[in-house]
Amino acid sequence: MNKNKTILQGFEWYLEPNASHWRYVKERSGAIKDAGITAVWLPPAYKGAQGIHDVGYGTYDLYDLGEFDQKGSVPTKYGTKQEYHDLIDALHYHGVDVYADIVFDHFLGADETEEVEAIRFKDNDRNEVIGEPEKIAAWTKFTFPNRHQAYSDYTWTWKNFKGVNHDENTGENAIWGFEGKHWESAVDHENGNYDYLMGADLDMDYQETVEQLDLWGRWYLHQSHVDGFRIDAVKHIRFSFFIDWLKKRNEEAGRELFAVGEYWNGEVERLENYLDSCGGMMHLFDVPLHFNLFHASSSNGSYDMRTIFDHTLLTSRQDWAVTFVDNHDTQEGQSLQSWVEDWFKLQAYSLILLRDTGIPCVFYTDVFDVQTGTIKEDMRILMKVRECLAYGSQMDYFDDPDIVGFTRHGDPSYENSGVAIVLTNAKGGSKRMSVGAMQAGHTFVDCLGNCDERLIIEEDGRADFPVKDGSVSVWINESALAQVK
Ligand code: CA
Repeated sequence: MNKNKTILQGFEWYLEPNASHWRYVKERSGAIKDAGITAVWLPPAYKGAQGIHDVGYGTYDLYDLGEFDQKGSVPTKYGTKQEYHDLIDALHYHGVDVYADIVFDHFLGADETEEVEAIRFKDNDRNEVIGEPEKIAAWTKFTFPNRHQAYSDYTWTWKNFKGVNHDENTGENAIWGFEGKHWESAVDHENGNYDYLMGADLDMDYQETVEQLDLWGRWYLHQSHVDGFRIDAVKHIRFSFFIDWLKKRNEEAGRELFAVGEYWNGEVERLENYLDSCGGMMHLFDVPLHFNLFHASSSNGSYDMRTIFDHTLLTSRQDWAVTFVDNHDTQEGQSLQSWVEDWFKLQAYSLILLRDTGIPCVFYTDVFDVQTGTIKEDMRILMKVRECLAYGSQMDYFDDPDIVGFTRHGDPSYENSGVAIVLTNAKGGSKRMSVGAMQAGHTFVDCLGNCDERLIIEEDGRADFPVKDGSVSVWINESALAQVK
């Protein structure tokens, strides 16, 4: 049986823009491994339009991994190219995989404007044209003067893009599509057509765009030796685009690279449709589950916990779900703000970390104590329980609106494995559950220390597992405590 996978999202939105993050994570690569984390998703490593202040989603130069003096600095927000490579080497040394974040929807921060014939579209209905074609000055020419054509001599022009949202001639902002082009049809249908998100929108109908992204992918994989990709904003990009792109990367790597896409929508049907359209080449983040967790945390105990997995990818497409509690976009003040409240964090994490389906992705600020730079003890324990004990068949007890639970019966190839989880978003109590007759007579304790009872498992494998108000208890064999502490 394979060990359980756990992904760490290795950054957050509000890191200091001081080019130190690659070094910071590198110093913690041993601790990351020891906590049971098997892969780290790193933020976009190339230069964004805001230079050292760019979180990474404003793609400027894909070939500048913190190597050229562009947009005000040599390093990116996270450090230099050398430091990036050193970090990847350190994680690989510890046997931890690295997933790269790639942003192929748009470019920002062009070096020059171009006169382009364009037509305006209505902001909330991108199928509706406003007015006549007009000449605008679009920020679409990317020459990367300070890279001096290193790695690539390609100049990106308006032909590589479908549209922009700014006319430098008039200073006006609106959504312009370039004359003679059409928005991609196989994209999300929010706002009529959600091809356009921001900046200069990449045109996948233009063969040179596809070729250049492919050339870059080959170069980047060769440079970085990453083990997989987290792909940004897939709902704004032709749904079939990544089939070919990922196939080629897998061929070059000589193995199947991991891939997970960000399709931000709470309707599971849209995610299922995307999974069908992309040929099973990537997983998707389980956004509907995130919203369930968010609502459970922010409804004063009135949320019906029996429905926590309803209408989620984890339920309908379990092999394709990357489960998460929060990310850099759901943080306070960010575009998709929907932060799962702190009192419910451990309940939420026990629901994604200890089950037999889904690949959990734990968020940076939930894992690291920002003050001390160490891994938070409760999270470390949950991840260790996942790594060492959360194996074997699963029994569900989602039979009460407040208190729910599930058990794992253990696997003989993992010493002392087996676990019983009971949690509530309201008043405490207890739940009668079975951990299997193989555990009969064993003493179980709450490894999170929220309850201090010592439970003896009955002859048929059952016991009454308690939980405190608004809390979670994770009951394990007392003999396994040393494995997770
Ligand atoms: Ca797009």
